Amino acid sequence: MPPQVATPCPNVARPRGSASMVGRVRRASWVRRWLWGLCLIAFGPAWATGDEWTEVRTVGPFVIRAEFPLAPWQRLLDDLRGVQDDLTRVLAVPAAKQPIEVYLFQGEASYTAYLRQYLPQVPYRRALYVRGQGPGMVFAYQSKRLPEDLRHECTHAMLHAVLPEVPLWLDEGLAEYFEQPIEQRAYGCPHLAAVRRRAWWGMTPDLPDLERRTLPEQMDKAQYRDAWALVHFALHGPPEARRELRDYLSDLASGATAAPLSARWQRHWPELSPVLRHHFDRWQRPN
Ligand SMILES: [Zn+2]
Repeated sequence: MPPQVATPCPNVARPRGSASMVGRVRRASWVRRWLWGLCLIAFGPAWATGDEWTEVRTVGPFVIRAEFPLAPWQRLLDDLRGVQDDLTRVLAVPAAKQPIEVYLFQGEASYTAYLRQYLPQVPYRRALYVRGQGPGMVFAYQSKRLPEDLRHECTHAMLHAVLPEVPLWLDEGLAEYFEQPIEQRAYGCPHLAAVRRRAWWGMTPDLPDLERRTLPEQMDKAQYRDAWALVHFALHGPPEARRELRDYLSDLASGATAAPLSARWQRHWPELSPVLRHHFDRWQRPN
């Protein structure tokens, strides 16, 4: 496997960003990747150990450095710890052992200035997950959308901290699911209405098709929606769906060759579409 120095969140078509860094990194020459690594090694730690941070806080696996006081964001910090707990408790994903560095900027101006100076290869996005040769790094800035941005990018960081490979659809499906605050995950995600409407018309996510999409540029809004829907089915559908996802993640964590989730679910449901339709047809917030 070629050196993979940096892997920002590859959400190509999300409103928070639009570029495809993973695709660009994969097409880059090894020299460029090597230079990229030097850039991260040379500037990241030097910058990180500066005194300019208003607050430094450790929360679960995250070492958070912020240009602003974190007290008003306590709920968000609790959420991040909660996502790690849920990944472990619900899906048996091992907890990240290495620290994940999170850099939070006062506003878009200082965030953009930093990216332009130290990570000029990274296309602009409102928030970023970057996997360097050291710990994973998350960058974001203070805004109304910071909570969802941070929960999304930190989910990527937690997955990549312990899984040698994360299939792209599942990486984004889990990040989409966990970017919602806990009370919104099951019934309040903006994807739900569209997924239910499509299910009513007989249109359901095509898991094998998603599994074939390994490049960020192959993931558009529709694929993010469908990846979220399949994670929702796994977590709130029949118990076998969750059990198979747990086993799949366990195999991915071990580094063993893992049969795709579609093959595992097919043992229970030779036709997945009617099961998905049934799941979303009846899925309504209880009164
Ligand atoms: Zn993402």
